[in-house]
Amino acid sequence: MTTRAEAEQLVLKVPTEPYYAGRWQAGRDVNTFDVVDPVTERRLATVAETGAAGVDEAVSFARSALDDGEWARTDGAARGRLLDRVADLLEARGEEFAAIESLDVGKPGFEPRVIDIPQAVRTFRHFAGWADKVAGRTVPTPGHMGRPTLSYTVREPVGVVAAITPWNSPTMIAAWKVAPALAAGCAVILKPAEDAPLTSLLLASLIEEAGLPAGAFSVLPGRGEVTGRLLAGHPGVDKISFTGSPETGHTVAVAAAKGFRRTTLELGGKSPQIVFADADLDAAAEGVAIGVFANQGEVCAAGSRILVARAVYDDVVERLVARARDVKLGDPFDEGVTMGALISARQRERVCRYIDAGVAEGARLIAGGGRPRRAGYFVEPTLFAGAANTMTIAREEIFGPVGTIIVFDSDEEAVALANDSDYALAATLWTSDLGRAHTVARRVRAGAVAVNGWSPLDPALPWGGSRLSGHGRELGWSGIEANTEEKTVTVVL
Ligand code: ADP
Repeated sequence: MTTRAEAEQLVLKVPTEPYYAGRWQAGRDVNTFDVVDPVTERRLATVAETGAAGVDEAVSFARSALDDGEWARTDGAARGRLLDRVADLLEARGEEFAAIESLDVGKPGFEPRVIDIPQAVRTFRHFAGWADKVAGRTVPTPGHMGRPTLSYTVREPVGVVAAITPWNSPTMIAAWKVAPALAAGCAVILKPAEDAPLTSLLLASLIEEAGLPAGAFSVLPGRGEVTGRLLAGHPGVDKISFTGSPETGHTVAVAAAKGFRRTTLELGGKSPQIVFADADLDAAAEGVAIGVFANQGEVCAAGSRILVARAVYDDVVERLVARARDVKLGDPFDEGVTMGALISARQRERVCRYIDAGVAEGARLIAGGGRPRRAGYFVEPTLFAGAANTMTIAREEIFGPVGTIIVFDSDEEAVALANDSDYALAATLWTSDLGRAHTVARRVRAGAVAVNGWSPLDPALPWGGSRLSGHGRELGWSGIEANTEEKTVTVVL
């Protein structure tokens, strides 16, 4: 396992310039921004910010790669081989990616090592498999003016896709957007979050090494309100795939709507984890704790609303408090640490404001709530019991290690509470009753429901939500559909 000192050395080799038109564009941009280590609060890197000229050039180069470049002539099977090569390279350098991601995001290394990087590898492999299977359909038609017709559809790449990603799981979420778009034959421009852009920049060097033709893939580092805004509003971009907050998602959607450009928006959630009285309580407590505390709670699918049947309420609360106490907060590179720091001072302030609101609105603080006195943007794993679904801590996405526990008396009430939310991304059910599992899964409003395990991810499974959680689906065949236009061809025979 990589040490902190080794990881800091690895960071020095990460490129810090935009990558487009098939090369690193050193010295083009005058503005820079600093990337800060959330644990030490020290500067990790200074990265160039892509300005208007760079965004214009990247978009027009991506366009020409699609229109008459080598990428346009790269067939599905060849795209698949390239994506497989990306997967192999990423797998071979998995430890390096995990160490840099751990440093950049402030999360314990086992998470990127066990989840993020292997998931990203599997995502590239999965879409390598789709690349030569992006087929249309033959549709029976009754003929035209007495003559028979042959009608079929083809799926064509949607065009230039801007992928705007968040800082919580940068490599994995970049893979979710980049792999399906490349498999479909699109040209992708990735704009990573300014708080944690390092692994996305490294991904560009790896994609270059895999041999993708110039213009097929670009990375434009920069702040959201500068590079992100320029990209989202650029008329040469055909589709924006965005993961982030509802507020920024709204800005992106409005910019896209001006040109009737397509969007996929994944905007987070306030996902319920429902523990029924018949659940295996040990497994449920363990899973619920992972669901709310994994990645410091900085997860769009975090199961931050914990709904518990009255019959097992005290038991579950006790077990969850024990789990919260078991969490070892600290430097992700230290032995035994299970929770790192939040991404920034701003995020820590936001989380602490929610904790204050929970106390002020009368929820019972039963674990955590504090900020350890040390460097770094740490917040203790925190649980509120006796909460109502109307409280701010039950309504709004906190994006930190804060769980809100609410009691229910019947399945009917559990479903009503689960669905009484502005969000609809994910839900987890804990029960040993098969009938109850399927019935509640059907009635809960969410893009993805997991039973007896929190949010198992798989690149084959569609991912996305509705309402304030956004719209559209990533991954699986849905990820191909989201990156293609369906064209109808009719031949009058
Ligand atoms: P947070 O507030 O937690 O940083 P955001 O939703 O603002 O989350 O960020 C998600 C992504 O959106 C980041 O890559 C960020 O740089 C980008 N972003 C922020 N503002 C804009 C904007 N106005 N237009 C396009 N992208 C943006």
